[in-house]
Amino acid sequence: MKSIFTFIFSAVSLGLVAQRNFDGVQIEPVKVSDHVYVLFGSGGNIALITGENQNYIIDDQFAPLSDKIEFAIKSINPKPIAYVLNTHWHGDHTGGNVNFARKGATIIAHDRVYDRLKSGQQSATRNTQPAELEALPAISFSDQMKLRYREDAEIHAFHVNDAHTDGDSFYYFITENVIHLGDNFFNGRYPYVDISSGGDIDGMIANLYMAASMIDDQTVIIPGHGQVANKKELVDYANLLDLFRELIVELRNEGKSVEEVIDLKPLAEWDSTYGTGFIGPEAFIRSVYQTAD
Ligand SMILES: [Zn+2]
Repeated sequence: MKSIFTFIFSAVSLGLVAQRNFDGVQIEPVKVSDHVYVLFGSGGNIALITGENQNYIIDDQFAPLSDKIEFAIKSINPKPIAYVLNTHWHGDHTGGNVNFARKGATIIAHDRVYDRLKSGQQSATRNTQPAELEALPAISFSDQMKLRYREDAEIHAFHVNDAHTDGDSFYYFITENVIHLGDNFFNGRYPYVDISSGGDIDGMIANLYMAASMIDDQTVIIPGHGQVANKKELVDYANLLDLFRELIVELRNEGKSVEEVIDLKPLAEWDSTYGTGFIGPEAFIRSVYQTAD
């Protein structure tokens, strides 16, 4: 798993996907419980849940990787890929929807994933065309839903506070004691609060603490990006985000402009670790300055 961070954090692309070459990307499956695997590749971490008669996946990275992802899944469980669940609408998590849907999968996600994929988005930071019809969730939910993949085994899908976007969902595999938090958890890096998609730092911090309150020390936590974590690591990360937020808000409340706050480097001691991914110190400070209450 040598350069996973390099892969992952250069991969969270804003409209540059067409120029990227995925030939060198390998899909690496890691088993985390009886019937759950994490597939690392390029883009958001995929969870694979193997059912009796079918497979379920959470997120599907970029379209050019679909064949490799399918190959990796079939070598674990040759049953069909019946359901694709999305944690949110970004292309590094939904890019494969169209390919898996054409091969028979049903796409499931929150209502706002449907809306945002359907409309696409043109903004200063994002140029995303409307998605093809097959890529859209055939089933969407507003609050929560349950899927049963084996006798007495459930996937609990639920919408959370506006955080990374306004259409984020967590997927909790209760019987496996595994939870996928999507991009609310950028393990080891500053998170991306996508303001153009309704993101909010306060919602993100609240969601992470809420997830921590639902799980135990044995729970396997799958982040949207970065390595799998445990509860303690999740709480440490939430505490850090809360501290970062406080340091930035304190300066804002003294009347400093966002440019002044950036120049003061309030997170200097973390910038060389947390700030080396897709979101650097400046982008992170801007997002907190703008969305924190
Ligand atoms: Zn994302």
